[in-house]
Amino acid sequence: MLKNFYITTTLPYVNASPHIGFALEIIQADVIARYWRNQGQEVFFNMGSDEHGLKIYRKAQEQNMDTKAYCDIYAAKFNDLKKALNISWDNFIRTTDDHHVKAAQEFWLRCQQNGDIYKKNYKVKYCVGCELEKTDSELVDGKCPVHPNLEIELIEEENYFFKYSAYQQKLLDFYKNNRDFVIPESRLREIEKFTENGLEDFSISRLKAKMPWGVEVPGDDAHVMYVWFDALVGYISALNWPLDEKKFNDFWPGMQVAGKDNLRQQSSMWQAMLMSAGLPTSKQIFIHGFITANGQKMSKSLGNVIDPFELVEKYGTDAVRYYLLREFSPTEDGDFSMEKFTARYNSDLAGGIGNLLARTVTLADKPEFELQETGAGIKQEAERITAECGKLLEEFKFNEALKSAWDLISFCDRYINEHKPWEALTSPGTSAGQGKENASRVVSDVLFALGQIAQLLQPCLPQTSEKIKESLLDTSSIQLFPRL
Ligand SMILES: [Zn+2]
Repeated sequence: MLKNFYITTTLPYVNASPHIGFALEIIQADVIARYWRNQGQEVFFNMGSDEHGLKIYRKAQEQNMDTKAYCDIYAAKFNDLKKALNISWDNFIRTTDDHHVKAAQEFWLRCQQNGDIYKKNYKVKYCVGCELEKTDSELVDGKCPVHPNLEIELIEEENYFFKYSAYQQKLLDFYKNNRDFVIPESRLREIEKFTENGLEDFSISRLKAKMPWGVEVPGDDAHVMYVWFDALVGYISALNWPLDEKKFNDFWPGMQVAGKDNLRQQSSMWQAMLMSAGLPTSKQIFIHGFITANGQKMSKSLGNVIDPFELVEKYGTDAVRYYLLREFSPTEDGDFSMEKFTARYNSDLAGGIGNLLARTVTLADKPEFELQETGAGIKQEAERITAECGKLLEEFKFNEALKSAWDLISFCDRYINEHKPWEALTSPGTSAGQGKENASRVVSDVLFALGQIAQLLQPCLPQTSEKIKESLLDTSSIQLFPRL
């Protein structure tokens, strides 16, 4: 029996085009999905778009557009990332999909039946940028530190509330018993601390008369759901919950990948909601850092937003995947610069794997070359690095896994340089038979290692892996990563 593995990214809010930080998130999730697929697991990989809420409603109004038509345009842009970045997701959920709307309503009813939803007067400071309530202690000079250009808004109306406070102890017990629930552990300690300080019930509806763009609250058509309440349910409506019980039971609980700004929503609010609805909590939450550009936060006003589509257009999909996975610590903030991108490209891709493949297939194409049995030394080294690489990927250490794969590439380069197989293989008739056999042995060993490297690189650089495999079959054809 195959084991099942479910992984989902966050569902990006469709109020802007995708930026490089989100590209990092889906590439990381894609590596995990591909790795487990290669291990023989049945993987379901979900992505999608979060399409309700005040911010989107206003953006569409500003542009004089029908709100759904506005969402269609941006959802399509996010869906285009699949091809541009070669992402292997199996499903793209939109929170405006009919079956998602019904799932969110069913989820609401379950929380309500459990006594966790009640109505009260709501007066709060609100950041539309975050679509979150803000306490005074979270504000800097009266503004949201993430959105200093936006005014904090006061909302006062009668709303439905979720009894978040009832889950404080349950969440703390859960964290205590599941120390690897959030990766890295520093983020688990952060959410623990937040929970220890007390949880306040949060509003989960809006008056429809003021803001109609949301899922209707079941049994009360004067209200729509608060966008986070409906969006979080997207992780299970993607599995066609509650209609497809078998699929849900086969794949849930799942793993979620999210940015550090999503820590509270994913690892706390959503988990409390699942407990309330009587459903299993998520399996694990992996939290990645943010990407800055040349030391500054990326923003439209600074004009330093890095567009993943442009980057792919210019340098190719795997160059972008490689840079994001190799250069950044997977769980910390990192800085993007074109100089570093170009340096990595030239040294590791054009110079490293590109050069090794080119010189090896050139030697293997010589008429004097004869394929020999693989030597024990190279086999051992390849096995050691394959095991190391797999372990690092299972620990989400993408950068270290790639470093380890490149250790095998360097090993092969040194091996060729030491034995100089070109000397015996390029001088027909002059060299003794023994010399040719030895030279052929060296080249055969490196061909074997390249096959292993192709295998190692598959989750991170799928196209490169494929190209290496093809050129090993037909040594006359392919060039990897021409120099910039
Ligand atoms: Zn904000």
